[in-house]
Formats: sequence, C-alpha cells, structure tokens
Amino acid sequence: MELVAVTTNVAYIPGVVNIGVLRNGERCAVIDTGLDKDSGRNIRKVLEAEGLKLEIIINTHSHADHFGGNDYLARNLKAEVYAPSIESGIISNPILEPVYLFHGATPIRNLRNKFVLAKPSPVDQIIEPGKLEVIDLEVEIIPLPGHCFNQVGVLVDNILFCADTVFSKRVIDKYRIPVVQDVGSHLKTLDRLNGMEYDLFIPAHTKPVEDIKGLVAKNMVTTQGIIKDIKALLNEPKTTERVMSELCTSYGLDLTVVQQYYLIHMTIMAYLGYLYDEKQIDIEMDGNLLMWKLSP
Ligand SMILES: [Zn+2]
Repeated sequence: MELVAVTTNVAYIPGVVNIGVLRNGERCAVIDTGLDKDSGRNIRKVLEAEGLKLEIIINTHSHADHFGGNDYLARNLKAEVYAPSIESGIISNPILEPVYLFHGATPIRNLRNKFVLAKPSPVDQIIEPGKLEVIDLEVEIIPLPGHCFNQVGVLVDNILFCADTVFSKRVIDKYRIPVVQDVGSHLKTLDRLNGMEYDLFIPAHTKPVEDIKGLVAKNMVTTQGIIKDIKALLNEPKTTERVMSELCTSYGLDLTVVQQYYLIHMTIMAYLGYLYDEKQIDIEMDGNLLMWKLSP
C-alpha cells in the first residue's frame, strides 16, 4: 500500500477500499479505514512512512468494510471519529448490521463474520451536510444516501470522495445486484452525481475518474434494469423469496453463501419497498404469505 498524492492536501491509499487522506503539514485525516485491524495497521504504516499524524477519521457510511479499521486506529493513534447520524449508531453498535440483515432478530453465526460485523468504534462527532473544518482544512460533507441509509461524500480541493455511490462495470457485471438500502434515494443521488463537475471523483471500490458520468450511467442502467425485471416478474403475485430466486436465476447467479443471500435479500426488499411506495406494485396477503403483484 502506498500514498498517491492528488493535490498538496489530498491523497489516497489505493486498495480494495480506497482510503482518502487529507494532510496539512504533519497533521492528517483519513476517509474510511477498510475492513479490519490489518487495514488499520496498513494505513498506520503508510501514514507514518510519510511522517503524518492521524487526528481524524471520517466515515462515509456504516458498512463493515469502511469502518473496520477504526478500532485499531482510534485506540492506537487516539484518532477521533466523525460520522453521519444513523451511520454513527451502527459504527458504535456494529451488531446492528447483521441484525438488520436478519430482519431484526439475533443474527445467525453466518452473519457474524468481519465482512458484516466490524469491531465497534466510538463516534466523537456527528457530521451534517455542509462545510466542516478538519485539521484546519475546509471540507464539504455531501449527502449521498441510497447505497446506505445516510451515506456521505467528502469534497475537498474540488475532489469528491464519493464512497459507494457507484460500482465499476467489472463488479456490476460479476455481482449483478449491487447492495442498495434505499432505491428512491439511490436514484436521486445518481442523478445529482451526474450533474457534478469536479476535478476528480474517488469512489471507494474502483479507480478515480475525472468524469463520473460513465460510471453513473452504468449504475443507473443497472438499477433501472433491476426495477424493470422485478416488475416483469410480478405479472402474477409472488413472495419476496420467489422474486429473488427468479431474478437471481435469470441473472445467472447461483447463491451458495448465506451472507450473500441476506445482502441480496435486503437489496430486493429495498426495490420492492420502493416500487410499493411508488404505488407501482401492491401487497396481497394469501394463505399467510405476503405476495407482491403489479398495481392494476
Ligand atoms: Zn458500502
């Protein structure tokens, strides 16, 4: 892992999760911390090699792969953690991620691994959209909800760290149904992102791009395609499980991992909930099954 400088004050550490780095003299802040203690340790190594002292962690959202390194960095370097509301609740109580994946019940052991259950970390400051001072640099917190309830991006020096708003073509073509928690917000966020002109966009899971429009288009087409395909399946009433099973099969997916099942299940629920609230589909209770069907 190494630091890639973008401007005097902005850099990032490329990886499975790109870690944003803001620097001001020897003071520094990071945007997200990766999956676990090892990610935290690697970030520390890179920063120390550059003579940087970590003061602040900004978390974009509460998925385990974005805040799993918090615990190590907050404990060892006494870094303060900034996170948006809602996300902060999960970052300090990470069991809530597997809990919501398991419909609110105590999660089964398949959902208690580090990919969905990070170590808890304190959150020192709740961040709101708008201007924020971080290590004496002015940054702007940009709301980017959809992929996660209250996800935010960080704009600094005309560079936007845009978290998990967009995934690469490679990831989408492989996984077909990218995680979304709020489809309506996700569509609006993609629309807003499409109108943004910055010098550089740094998504968390793919290479930085100067123009985000191509990635937005791919993600928009994917989301609209899933909406269309779910509606096509609802020409007759179906349960959530039936919709999910038929959609996955038609996309050539063969789910074998329980955790993946639950992540996609949540995402399908997000789509069904969106279509229901948009009055495009209805609910029919039949033989103690909740069935979805197209609105007349
Ligand atoms: Zn995420």
